[in-house]
Amino acid sequence: MMDIQKIRSDFPILNRKVNDHPLVYFDNAATSQTPQVVIDCIVDYYSNYNANIHRGVHSLSQEATDKYEQARETIRAHFNAKFTREIIFTSGTTDGINLVAHGFSGLLKKGDELIVSALEHHSNIVPWQMLCESTGANLKVIPMNDQGILDMQAYNELLTDRTKLVFCNHVSNALGVINPISEIIKKAHHVGAAVLVDGAQATPHIKPNVQELDVDFYVASAHKMCGPTGVGMLYGKEQWLSKLPPYQGGGEMIAEVTFEKTTYADLPHKFEAGTPNICGGIAFGAAIDYMNEIGFAEIHDYEKELLDYGTSELKKIPGLKIYGETAHKAAVISFNLQGIHPYDVGSIVDKLGVAVRTGHHCAQPIMDYFKIPGTVRASFAFYNTKQEIDTLVSAVKLAQKMLS
Ligand code: PMP
Repeated sequence: MMDIQKIRSDFPILNRKVNDHPLVYFDNAATSQTPQVVIDCIVDYYSNYNANIHRGVHSLSQEATDKYEQARETIRAHFNAKFTREIIFTSGTTDGINLVAHGFSGLLKKGDELIVSALEHHSNIVPWQMLCESTGANLKVIPMNDQGILDMQAYNELLTDRTKLVFCNHVSNALGVINPISEIIKKAHHVGAAVLVDGAQATPHIKPNVQELDVDFYVASAHKMCGPTGVGMLYGKEQWLSKLPPYQGGGEMIAEVTFEKTTYADLPHKFEAGTPNICGGIAFGAAIDYMNEIGFAEIHDYEKELLDYGTSELKKIPGLKIYGETAHKAAVISFNLQGIHPYDVGSIVDKLGVAVRTGHHCAQPIMDYFKIPGTVRASFAFYNTKQEIDTLVSAVKLAQKMLS
């Protein structure tokens, strides 16, 4: 059992008021809140050992390098990668996807095929479209149904020996649906295609095991996992990361530079040009430690309770429709009130201190599928409570009354 009051006391922001009401933070899918241990870790870095890494002989630089590399090891252990060098620090999920897309530009030819799911965030669509434009490869889409479930039969039919890459999110940010990535990966491997899984929305709820999944690339952002913004991770199988060319050129990523020829550093540094977000990387490690102390099994069970309660309470509101209602879901509820624009609902509940996201959630194809401009999205974290859900439900009812 989680001690929810103790957990809430770890997050200073949960004490604040918004528009004279206690903050109810249900925009966790956009970014999670930060516990005091992670804030302390950031303050400690800048107060005590701020220095550039990997190149200084002096003590501060050594200390910062050790902490940064320890954080990489924490990330490796969390995702169960085989080697620490398979973990690349990035600025976030978007950066990791672009790194891989850039790397494949030299490996694809006209007529090759890439497969994307219908449930993707724009950051797992646009880089691949750019890649198709520059290489002449074609992008195919796995369709979904009204519950937000991917059509696996259609996926089977899309896979051919021309398929080179498949990408799919582990959990959909717009609907919360958990995708069958294990099956997607196995089937892609049968035709020799590589798979990139966007874990941005899964990692706050699930502890992925990249070796068990046998996934080729897995990307995530620290700021959705109680860490800071501007830092994330890319896991890549060593054989893939060795094959891909560097993403950016600069300091830190070289072995030797002359004006005639440059040779590149070994993994992971080959993909980490320039001074990285040192403090962010270290704080990412602290955030992962914090979440593991609470425990992902406990987080899962508690968030499932919140999801079930929130779903049943919201469904009692006449005219409220939930999108992507399936049994296999993370703690995200995307909904609309009949005849009312989601933005208006979001603005009114904010006046009562309730933070939700409204709009297309960077997933316009999903909104087009449902023929709607957007949804109201309430996304829960392990520090939320049923009482907060009651506040949301009252606020949505008030919005409905005012706007009908
Ligand atoms: N993919 C998914 C599924 C997401 O939810 C997000 C963030 N909303 C991203 C990618 C992009 O993450 P970031 O902005 O941290 O790069």
